[in-house]
Amino acid sequence: MWRATVACRGQRMGNGHKAAHHRGAHTRLARQARARYNADPNTLCARCHQPARIGDPWQAGHKLDGIVATSLADYQPEHQSCNTSAGARLGNQRRAGNDPTLNW
Ligand SMILES: [Zn+2]
Repeated sequence: MWRATVACRGQRMGNGHKAAHHRGAHTRLARQARARYNADPNTLCARCHQPARIGDPWQAGHKLDGIVATSLADYQPEHQSCNTSAGARLGNQRRAGNDPTLNW
């Protein structure tokens, strides 16, 4: 369960990955995914398998590492804290000023 998601950041692998395009599609789909998780009181976190927590909003995590999400099915619900801690763990050495929250 810990293998699959590097979240959507730090993808600078020099292999032609279109980060900007990816970010746009991801933002739109992720927003829809989050709305779905928020609307379902039975949503469980894909990382810690616990229900919603106060002050820890749902994030849309990637089910498959390195695969560009093309539909809501490519996302899984994750607590913000779970998503952030996992992304930081895996992405620290790769992240070089590639801020996923940057507005274009
Ligand atoms: Zn969690």
